[in-house]
Amino acid sequence: QIFVVGSFVVACSVKVARLPRAGESLAAEAFVSEPGGKGFNLAVAAHRLGAQVDGVFAIGDDPFAAVAVSAFEGVGLAADMLVRRSGSTGAGIGFVDREGENCLAVSPGANRLLAAADIDPARIARAGLVMATFESPDAAIAEAFAQARARGTRTLLNPSPGRPIDPRILADTTILVVNRVEAADLGLDVADPGTAEALLRAGPAVVVVTLGEEGAVAFQRDGPPARQAAFPVAAVDTIGAGDAFSAGFAVALLEGRPIAEALARAAACGAITTCRFGAFEAFPTTADLDRFCAA
Ligand code: ADP
Repeated sequence: QIFVVGSFVVACSVKVARLPRAGESLAAEAFVSEPGGKGFNLAVAAHRLGAQVDGVFAIGDDPFAAVAVSAFEGVGLAADMLVRRSGSTGAGIGFVDREGENCLAVSPGANRLLAAADIDPARIARAGLVMATFESPDAAIAEAFAQARARGTRTLLNPSPGRPIDPRILADTTILVVNRVEAADLGLDVADPGTAEALLRAGPAVVVVTLGEEGAVAFQRDGPPARQAAFPVAAVDTIGAGDAFSAGFAVALLEGRPIAEALARAAACGAITTCRFGAFEAFPTTADLDRFCAA
């Protein structure tokens, strides 16, 4: 079982002929709202890949709370992962013009109120891997990771959106997954494995850097770097590729696969996701992944 220290947002966007100017109100061509958040994406992606998924996600007491419940049920995740806070559910608002240019802002809302006390030791005890992103507060992540660590359970951290990593969280992280931008912020240069040494001494046994269409590289405490090329695909929408990669990597490790194989399956999950529009709808199932890997 995978336990996700989660985040949930309702992503709203309007399609407009051009982005509005300050003070202007425009008639939009369409309105779209869809469930999202990195935690939700990881949970959906892992569930599609056949993992049993549990977790904890904070939502508000506004109308979007009901959207969260139906989103979880709609994808086959148990709504008992949701904890309620007074206030707003996480939500984002964006504008997308005809060229695909966009601007957006996201309000974390209740996600900010996920607390250490929300981490149930009985549920962490059932997990074979605990994962988190930086859309959740440090206190909740630190508690979940400390409980996992005390039980010898692996943890995976995707520190996105970027902020400095609390050293206690880093110390309890087994697998750190970062993209190119986050790697640079951590002083990691993929061309120079020596730059990963300080991180590998501070906690993680594996640091994976995802490099978009250049694949990924895993720096390991106990071995040489493992490199994985990206699968050549006709990418149409890279949204969600990183989340698909992290979920694919976690599920593969939970299945007992070695690092090299887990990297390949994770890269395949990322590649498949880029071939489809949307985020969570684009995540592969086990059957999609096996078919892709066999081809
Ligand atoms: P993020 O979306 O977090 O910035 P990346 O862009 O690095 O993450 O993508 C995550 C992974 O998805 C990459 O390591 C790669 O394996 C896969 N991927 C992303 N973009 C492509 C692409 N254009 N073609 C093939 N694989 C891709």
